[in-house]
Amino acid sequence: MQLRQGRVDLHIHTTASDGSLTPAEVVRLALEQGLAAIALTDHDTVAGLPEAWAAARGTGLEVVPGVEISSDWPVGDFHILGLYVDPWDGPLGDRLASMRVARLHRARKMLDRLAALGMPLEWEEIARFCQRDCAIGRFHIALAMVHRGYVSDISEAFQRYIGRNGPAYVPRLRMTPAEVIGLIRRAGGVAVLAHPAASGVVEQIPTLASMGLQGIEVWYPDHSPEDVRALLRLARQYHLLVTGGSDFHGFGLGAGAPLGSAGVPLQALRQLQRAAELAGQPEEKSVFVMAV
Ligand SMILES: [Zn+2]
Ligand SMILES: [Zn+2]
Repeated sequence: MQLRQGRVDLHIHTTASDGSLTPAEVVRLALEQGLAAIALTDHDTVAGLPEAWAAARGTGLEVVPGVEISSDWPVGDFHILGLYVDPWDGPLGDRLASMRVARLHRARKMLDRLAALGMPLEWEEIARFCQRDCAIGRFHIALAMVHRGYVSDISEAFQRYIGRNGPAYVPRLRMTPAEVIGLIRRAGGVAVLAHPAASGVVEQIPTLASMGLQGIEVWYPDHSPEDVRALLRLARQYHLLVTGGSDFHGFGLGAGAPLGSAGVPLQALRQLQRAAELAGQPEEKSVFVMAV
């Protein structure tokens, strides 16, 4: 089968979390670029989906429901995508809501620490960078620090103050990878490890696979051609699905790769759809990885 490169983008953030474009704006941009399908994968929320679906109605663009959930483990920091989750699943909704509350508490604690370091910030200064249902986080604190002139750019904010070893860092309340995978799968979703090479957690893939992980994100802006080859090999070895996306966050300060830039084959989406359909059936069958 002929692969159509770059027609699919399965990792996108909107203003529902820390992206700068609304779900409807992302849909319009995807249509302008001729993408066949996109997945909204906002942090800890599925709130952007109704708006995206409304904007995409009648256009032929497929909007895959998704979410990105962070998970902490002694051996690394995992971001796990739940693709094709049921956005109306009760336990998923409850858990995401409690994670968003914890996120607010964490941001407030970090502001306390920054104030103690002589860099006071008002809550409104952070919130203005995080509109609507946005999941407030370190990125918004970093933007406010730049705006106040405490640091010259976002990376300095992370390196000196709010990064993992910084004096204003407060760890997040997170779930274990097994919990996240279970939550996603019970909500009918396919659990996919996001940017494993960029996160430096490739060697954990076999363990995660034994916990029920179903796929890995292979095509990603920060993944080198060698990373892609190694991840495809691992996917075959552990019978994992392969996905990809740009991790698009919109435009402006701190924005990353452009929408649709990850070169994800359309075939990856079809395999994923099949897995999601099987997940909805009472007897879950094994899923075979695509031959790429
Ligand atoms: Zn991520
Ligand atoms: Zn992301």
